Amino acid sequence: MKFIPTIGLEVHCQLNTQSKLFSPAATSFGADANTQVQTVCLGLPGALPVLNREAVKKAVRAGLAVGGVIHERSKFDRKNYFYPDLPKGYQITQFYEPYCTNGKIEIDVDKKKKTVGITRIHIEEDAGKLMHSEDAQVHESYVDLNRAGTPLIEIVSEPEIDSSDEAVAYLTELKKILEYIDVSDCNMEQGSLRVDANVSVRRDGTSTLGTRVEIKNLNSFKSVKAAIEYEIERQAELIESGGKVLQETRLYNAARDTTASMRSKEEAHDYRYFPDPDLVPLILKKEEIENIKRDLPELAHEKRARYVEEFGLPEYDAEVLTADRNTALYFEDALRAGAPAKKASNWVMVEMLAVVKEQHKPIETLFAPTNLAELIHLIDSGVISSKIAKEVFAEMVASGKNAKAIVEAKGMAQISDEGAIREIVRSVMAEHPTSVDDFRDGKERALKHLQGEIMKKTRGKVNPQIANKILGEELG
Ligand code: ADP
Ligand code: MG
Repeated sequence: MKFIPTIGLEVHCQLNTQSKLFSPAATSFGADANTQVQTVCLGLPGALPVLNREAVKKAVRAGLAVGGVIHERSKFDRKNYFYPDLPKGYQITQFYEPYCTNGKIEIDVDKKKKTVGITRIHIEEDAGKLMHSEDAQVHESYVDLNRAGTPLIEIVSEPEIDSSDEAVAYLTELKKILEYIDVSDCNMEQGSLRVDANVSVRRDGTSTLGTRVEIKNLNSFKSVKAAIEYEIERQAELIESGGKVLQETRLYNAARDTTASMRSKEEAHDYRYFPDPDLVPLILKKEEIENIKRDLPELAHEKRARYVEEFGLPEYDAEVLTADRNTALYFEDALRAGAPAKKASNWVMVEMLAVVKEQHKPIETLFAPTNLAELIHLIDSGVISSKIAKEVFAEMVASGKNAKAIVEAKGMAQISDEGAIREIVRSVMAEHPTSVDDFRDGKERALKHLQGEIMKKTRGKVNPQIANKILGEELG
């Protein structure tokens, strides 16, 4: 390629607090329009903001989880602009002194490990939402202020991302961290996680970064990837044909898979930032920060490393098991109940996650982890074969009953008694004399046939090792 792309991401993440950043109004998603508003988020004259400490705590958690420096002092500023979804006429944000700087996210793309720097994270409030009439004849728009004043953190990366795949890897890791530490539901469809992608290209061999274009409000990883790829190509072609990239804000159109200009640098808002006179600086005591740090759970990448080291699991298993925190905790609970790591990993990764995907149910609702440990124990101690175990598993999912109860109720226990097996083997040999002769004539395939017949006769319940041993003896 003649052009080298550079990407920097700005991620808006809605914090999952009960109430808003500066007002006691509720924040739940999907409530009737304008039922979660109150004097402060409506911007009524005289209403004064009071900072939500829980939002600050969650913001600090996020900053610490990405290895950021938490500042003991930060400040709130006003970002002024006029828009109908912004009743105050300004947004409260942290422009001059953010509470967190210098974080990082580790990514791994095509086995290449890399660190992407986080420049800063700041706390700010969200705006409301405009809804436009879907009827082309009706020229009306409506405003819902339920979201106005909801706490956000904005996580700004360094321009250190080199491809759309790296951008998606960065976002995947970041989302995982935010979910693990329970500061956001990260629901992209509901707008809890929104991405602005800054993209530039430069000629191969040069080092100065090209002019960047910002693509606003991408709400799925798929559109992040597509928008970045489209934009890289558009800029490269533009430069190739003698044009110049203009610094501007563009919007991505998923239906057309293109970006289109929204506003140029000249049209950019002058936000007239200034410190919010209604708010005192945010002071965090060292001790407070330390307490939040101590409270952080083990994160995905830490679990991943531990699963490989402590349990001897392959990297792949560790990656899949830790992709979602509930899955990781489920797996760990199964181990605590006595399941061996690799076997538990296989069941969780293959069987359980397939059901999770199919039935859209969280893993912990399928059946208890102790029950998985019991199922594995039944296989390991020879009570059921691994083939029967699949049936028991399906029954466990369907009925919620535990493994032992199902095996007993359905008579699924494996036949391991040598005398009983010898009788079965003899009767199968008597029923299939041709196969017996064929085997004795040196046809290996006849053995497989006899083994299959023994399985069939016992409906898969015979212990295969013992059956094969006895069949060998009987065939001489
Ligand atoms: P703004 O507030 O105008 O969006 P910021 O300084 O917050 O500006 O930077 C926004 C993002 O742009 C950051 O994520 C940064 O990494 C990215 N960025 C800066 N320069 C470039 C560039 N030349 N190419 C790509 N991304 C860039
Ligand atoms: Mg910005």
